[in-house]
Amino acid sequence: MTEKYFGAHVSAAGGVENAPVNAHEIGATAFALFTKNQRQWQAKPLTGESISAFKTNCEKFGYKPQQILPHDSYLINLGHPEKAALQKSRDAFLEEMQRCEQLGLDRLNFHPGSHLNKMSEDECLATIAQSINISLGKTNGVTAVIENTAGQGTNLGFSFYQLKKIIDQVEDKSRVGVCIDTAHAYSAGYDLKTKSGFEKVFQEFDEVIGFEYLKGMHLNDSKKDFGSKVDRHDSLGKGTLGLEVFECIMNDERFSGIPLILETPNEDLWAEEIKLLKSLQK
Ligand SMILES: [Zn+2]
Ligand SMILES: [Zn+2]
Repeated sequence: MTEKYFGAHVSAAGGVENAPVNAHEIGATAFALFTKNQRQWQAKPLTGESISAFKTNCEKFGYKPQQILPHDSYLINLGHPEKAALQKSRDAFLEEMQRCEQLGLDRLNFHPGSHLNKMSEDECLATIAQSINISLGKTNGVTAVIENTAGQGTNLGFSFYQLKKIIDQVEDKSRVGVCIDTAHAYSAGYDLKTKSGFEKVFQEFDEVIGFEYLKGMHLNDSKKDFGSKVDRHDSLGKGTLGLEVFECIMNDERFSGIPLILETPNEDLWAEEIKLLKSLQK
C-alpha cells in the first residue's frame, strides 16, 4: 500500500515555521495549519525569514507539500450574496492562496460559503465557483480544496452534488479538489459509521465527484447525532461516529498519499490519536 500521511491541525503561533515543529513533536506525518490568524481579516505579510524557516523545517522533518493541508480563515464567504462583502472575501482568499504559493504549498482547504437566505443555492454555488476562478487566475500551483460542510445554518457544500456543481463551474479542473470531513459528512446525513455504510458513501462520492478530486481528509468524530446538521467535532472513538470508519480509511488505498488531518478538540490527545490511527492499519 502507498503511504498514509496523517497528523493534526497544529498551532502556528509565533510563526508558520513552528507548525512543522509542532507536527513532528506529536509524531505526525501530515499536518494542517492556518497561515494567518483565522479570526482576523488583516495579517502582516509573511517575512522572508519566516518563509525560509518554514521550508527548512518541513525539509528537516520530512513534510512534502502533499502532506500539508493549510486551512483558510473562517471569516471568508466566497458565496456571499452582497457585493462589497463578497469582494472582501475574494480579496482575503486570494491573499491566502498567495501565502500558500510563497510557502511552496500546493493546496488550500476552505469552506465553500453561505447564502445567508439572500440568494438561491444554485446562485450561491455559481458565485463560489466564480470566486475560485478569480483566485486561480491570479496564482500558480495552488489547488483550491473545497471542504464538505455539516450544512449548519445556510452553509452550502453539505452534499456531494453541491460540491460537484461548484467543480463543474471551475474552469481549471486541474486545480480544484475536495476535502471530506468525516464529522461533517455524518452530521450532514452520510452514514459512514459502519464498514458497509462507509463503502456505500464513498461509492457515491466516486460516482458523483470522483476520487481524482480528493486532496485531503479531516478525521473527526462527532459530538452530534447522525443527520443533525450541527458541526461539533469530538476526539476519535469518543463521539457518535466511533472508530470503524477510521479503520476503513486507514486500510483503503484510495486515501493514501494525501493529508489525513485530525481536527479533534483535545490537542493533548493528538499524539495518542495518531498512535491509534497507526494501530488501525493492518
Ligand atoms: Zn474546515
Ligand atoms: Zn474539517
